[in-house]
Amino acid sequence: MTVGIWILGDQLWSQQAALQSADSDFEIPIILIESLEFVRVRPDHRQKLVLVWSAMRHFAAELREAGWSVTYIITEKSVEVPLKKWIKDHQITQLRVMIPNDRPFQEFIQNLNLSCQIDWLENNHFLWKKIEFKQWSKGRKRLLMEDFYRESRKRFNILMEDKQPIGNRWNFDSENRKPPKVKLNPPHPLWFEPDEITQTTIEQVNQISLPLYGKTEPFRWAVTRQQALKVLQSFIAERLPNFGAYQDAMVTGEQTLWHALLSPYLNLGLLNPLEVIQAAETAYYQQNLPLNCVEGFIRQVLGWREYMQGIYQLMDADYSQHNYFNHTQSLPKFFWDAEKTDMNCLSQVLSQVENTGYAHHIQRLMILSNFALIAGLSPQEVENWFHAVFIDAYDWVMQTNVIGMGLFADGGILASKPYAASANYVNKMSDYCKGCVYNPRSRTGEKACPFNIFYWDFLDRHRETLKSLGRMNLVLRHLDKMSENERQMIHQQAVNWRSRF
Ligand code: FAD
Ligand code: SF4
Repeated sequence: MTVGIWILGDQLWSQQAALQSADSDFEIPIILIESLEFVRVRPDHRQKLVLVWSAMRHFAAELREAGWSVTYIITEKSVEVPLKKWIKDHQITQLRVMIPNDRPFQEFIQNLNLSCQIDWLENNHFLWKKIEFKQWSKGRKRLLMEDFYRESRKRFNILMEDKQPIGNRWNFDSENRKPPKVKLNPPHPLWFEPDEITQTTIEQVNQISLPLYGKTEPFRWAVTRQQALKVLQSFIAERLPNFGAYQDAMVTGEQTLWHALLSPYLNLGLLNPLEVIQAAETAYYQQNLPLNCVEGFIRQVLGWREYMQGIYQLMDADYSQHNYFNHTQSLPKFFWDAEKTDMNCLSQVLSQVENTGYAHHIQRLMILSNFALIAGLSPQEVENWFHAVFIDAYDWVMQTNVIGMGLFADGGILASKPYAASANYVNKMSDYCKGCVYNPRSRTGEKACPFNIFYWDFLDRHRETLKSLGRMNLVLRHLDKMSENERQMIHQQAVNWRSRF
């Protein structure tokens, strides 16, 4: 038997399962393949391509330095031809691959019709295995994130003392929603100047003639594990001490606030979730950091991230096709070009995404997907857009976050009510409305904020469905107090707005 290892672009960790199985047997050949074929599927953000390809190239160089024999292929076509040639040249009879996080990619590999056997190794980039999550989910009426999170805390013994949560509370979320009423001064994130490998990758991406999205430069992301570890250290030292309070705030010109900027590295395998969680926990004990900040951050990685992956693996492949509200409106053109909208909140967040490929959680949830939900955009078009434009986007994280959390298109498998909000929320949690041509307090008239128009129209259109969810009754009572005349005016304005998309 001759073994070969194929390392995929988001499996860049020396301890990933396929490499681990080789037990430092440097005779085993390794292949990594960069293929333009995948870029044809959707217009990816240019910085995402630079990040993934540069990180792959750096990882290949590190493996070579460690003594491995690495073949690195760059192809404009499918991975199939170079992979088959490599298998033939090295007379490989068993190809070891760590199971991809993204299901469509596993299917793609299965359909390649290779001349050798494929040995699938359990993915070790998450703390919960697929089977473990399935066992946890068995017999539960609702798959609540909070229940899963508590189980994870116990299972991995994180922030626990005598089997009880430290501070006698599992969750400090209520302390983490401060509006940005004062001037905030978050520390600058740690960025990196592109080295020679990244510079070459940037030039290559700039020459791609396929439709792509966003600006290539300035490119400042980490591209190696060493750099990603520095980002983690800098986060723990400078941002974690204040991570909590303004977690939901949005401020013009402050793109990251105290958020960690770690998702691109966790999702590529440059960082491992347990080391990230333990780094935060250690800082809590050693530096006496506020519990609401440390618990709030750990909940994101140990709770939300693992839960989203678990749900994705649990659901059938048709999860991405759910459309609970039957929303069919096409994506407005301004999603691809921030200059084409005068709604300041959307324009700020969209131009930030164009420039960096990044927006923090509340910008994604309460500006971008909230707008898509209340305006009635097609969930599948919205998911496709999110997948294309974000630096950290992959199928496993996209489906649950966009179809489930953001758009409630799964009908509540994941969230207990839709994250729908009017300008009231945006005005409270951001400074965007101050610089906007629309009035966040109006829902009718020329200057009425579209978030208000769409919000009330959404509630009105789906009143019966929302009633059955129970948790929406309070806002529905506000709708009941509105005159028929006003409801009709709002509806007509929503129709007019949609016709402009
Ligand atoms: P922080 O706010 O500092 O959080 C720390 C870490 O927690 C993140 O790095 C991430 O690894 C993890 N995390 C927190 N929430 C989630 C979540 N809901 N799902 C998965 N991981 C989570 N995350 C992605 O990794 N890729 C995406 O493409 C993506 N798209 C999203 C789309 C929508 C509509 C929504 C609502 C959320 C999306 N998220 C996505 C989740 C979350 O917004 C990002 O992980 C986070 O904003 C990344 O920035 P950060 O590293 O600064 O995060
Ligand atoms: Fe956004 Fe409306 Fe506020 Fe303008 S007024 S920034 S459109 S929420």
